Amino acid sequence: MNPPVVLAVAGTDSGGAAGLAADLATFSALGVHGAMVVAAVTAQDTTGVTAIHAVPADVVAAQLEAVLADLPVAAVKTGMLGSLEAVALVTRACAGRVLVVDPVLRATSGADLATDAVVAAYRDVLLPVATVITPNAAEAGGLLGLDSDDPMHPAALATGLTGLGPAVVVTGGPEVAGAETCTDWLALPGAEPVAISHPAVATTNDHGTGCTYSSALASYLALGEDLKTSCARAAAYVSNQLDISKTWTLGRGRGPVAH
Ligand code: PLP
Repeated sequence: MNPPVVLAVAGTDSGGAAGLAADLATFSALGVHGAMVVAAVTAQDTTGVTAIHAVPADVVAAQLEAVLADLPVAAVKTGMLGSLEAVALVTRACAGRVLVVDPVLRATSGADLATDAVVAAYRDVLLPVATVITPNAAEAGGLLGLDSDDPMHPAALATGLTGLGPAVVVTGGPEVAGAETCTDWLALPGAEPVAISHPAVATTNDHGTGCTYSSALASYLALGEDLKTSCARAAAYVSNQLDISKTWTLGRGRGPVAH
C-alpha cells in the first residue's frame, strides 16, 4: 500500500539541524513519503546564520507545480519561506489543502529569517488559508504585532491568532523552570483553548524542534488522525527526540535535536 505523501516547503540548514533536514527525517520516521520544495538556502551552524539565499520565485513555482501535478499530496507543511513571492506562491498552490504553517520568523540561534514584509504577508495572505499554524510564543507575539517586553499567556496568544483564520497551536517550553511537563495550547476559532502537555526535557540541543513538531503534525494529519490527537502525538514525538539527543555535544552552540 502507498504511504501518504506530505510536502515540505521550507529552507535548508547547512548544519542539518533544522529546516528540510528535520522535515524529511521526521516524515521518514513516521512512515509518510516526503516531497520537498526548497524555498530558501541558509549557511548556518549551531551558533548562527551567516548567509541566506531566497530561491528565485520561478524556481519555487516550478518545484510546486512538479510535485502537485504528479504526487497525491495529502498534507503540506511550510517552514522558512524566505520571500514575499514564495508566500504568495504557496498560498495560491495550497489553499484548500491540509496545510500546516510553521511561521518561521527567527532561527534558534537568534537570527531573523523573515522580514517585516514577509511577516505581514503571513498575517494577511497565508494564515487565512492554513488548516493550523504552529508558532512558539515569540512567533505568536510577532504575528500579533505585540511588544515582546510584555508577554501574553500562550493560551491568550493562541486565541488571539484564531482571529486570523486557522486553528492555532502555540508550542511552549515548561511554564516554570525545572517543571516536568511542557504545555502547548491548541485553539480553534470560537472555542476555548485546550492544553496539551508532554514531558519537558532539559537540554540546549533544541535546534530543529519547531520544524520537527510541524512536520510530525502534518504527518499524523496525513495518516488520518484528528487535529487534537495529531498535536498530542507530535508533541510526544518531539519530547522523545529531545530525550535521545539531550546529552549530545555537537557544535559550539544550540545543538541539533535528534532526527
Ligand atoms: N528553517 C530553517 C531553514 C532554519 O534555519 C530554522 C532555524 O534555524 C528553522 C526553520 C526553525 O528552526 P527551529 O525548528 O529550531 O525552530
